Amino acid sequence: MIVDRQGRRFRNLRISLTSACNYACTYCVPDGKRLVAARNELSAEAMIRGVEYLIEAAGIERLRITGGEPLVSPRFERFMSRVGRMGLADISLTTNAQLLSRKLPILLDAGIRRINVSLDTLDPSAFRAIARGGDLATVLEGMEQARAAGLQIKVNMVPLLDRNLDQVVPLLDYCLERGYELRFIELMRMGHLANDANGFHRQFVSLDRLLSLIGAHHEYQQADAPVDATAVRYRIPGKGYFGVIANESVPFCRTCSRLRLSSTGWLHGCLSSSNRHYVGDLLDKPRHQSLPALQRLLVKALDDKQAVAFSGGATVMKIIGG
Ligand code: SAM
Repeated sequence: MIVDRQGRRFRNLRISLTSACNYACTYCVPDGKRLVAARNELSAEAMIRGVEYLIEAAGIERLRITGGEPLVSPRFERFMSRVGRMGLADISLTTNAQLLSRKLPILLDAGIRRINVSLDTLDPSAFRAIARGGDLATVLEGMEQARAAGLQIKVNMVPLLDRNLDQVVPLLDYCLERGYELRFIELMRMGHLANDANGFHRQFVSLDRLLSLIGAHHEYQQADAPVDATAVRYRIPGKGYFGVIANESVPFCRTCSRLRLSSTGWLHGCLSSSNRHYVGDLLDKPRHQSLPALQRLLVKALDDKQAVAFSGGATVMKIIGG
């Protein structure tokens, strides 16, 4: 097992199935251009081997499938048909849910029990202004169908001062009523925001600000969370839970256990580092040839982790997934 000086190791793998996306969210894609697939994306087979090899080489226990938008990937069905049989303790998916109704049978066949849906507002015109793609009603319908099929749903919202602050409480109430757990994600200094302090502060909403907005409508208390959890979790008695992924306000680098594999075969040990390690070539090799080289790269990737706090990164979320 590869462990660093702070006692951290990789347990959670996030795999990006494609860099293509059917949205162009303002905080992720500043120029608003449609994201297309990279030319050299891995085959579904190489991605499957990537997960299998990393389970063995790094001790991965939990997998999150992301993107770009994973549901637009032509590899999605093939990848999902194998991923349920790898002995992972947990598999989940992060999606904007635009194609959820259509792809739901694939998720259910793969044995997926929980998903995260990114949704920043319930207001159709604000939705169009932020996501710059898709249709709000289709997303909400997809979530209803997933819920009816028994999937556990978390909703990810990035609160932005200038765009959706008025949606914090309505979206929370919507989620509480339906048994979805809302996760507020503090805006991260990624991609263009890493070098635009003014732009970042114009939009950033802190944990304290969120809690005071919520506290005006609901009584809440802090709830327990696993040691390597990224979210601070709260309980609203009798109604449900919400969480805040407070990258800035409560940094969680000290216990970070995440590893990321991009759709083009790069390993990223830390979102706040521009270091990355190419493993695409190793995924075409048999296990016994690939694992020793993979382990050497995993040592480097673990060494890329920040000690204490996220300090911004040129890496873009649209490529590597949330
Ligand atoms: N397309 C999928 C989706 O929409 O969930 C998966 C990829 S998307 C990049 C993953 C998550 O990252 C989304 O919840 C999105 O809101 C979040 N995200 C992207 N850029 C971000 C930023 N700068 N700060 C905080 N969250 C960000």
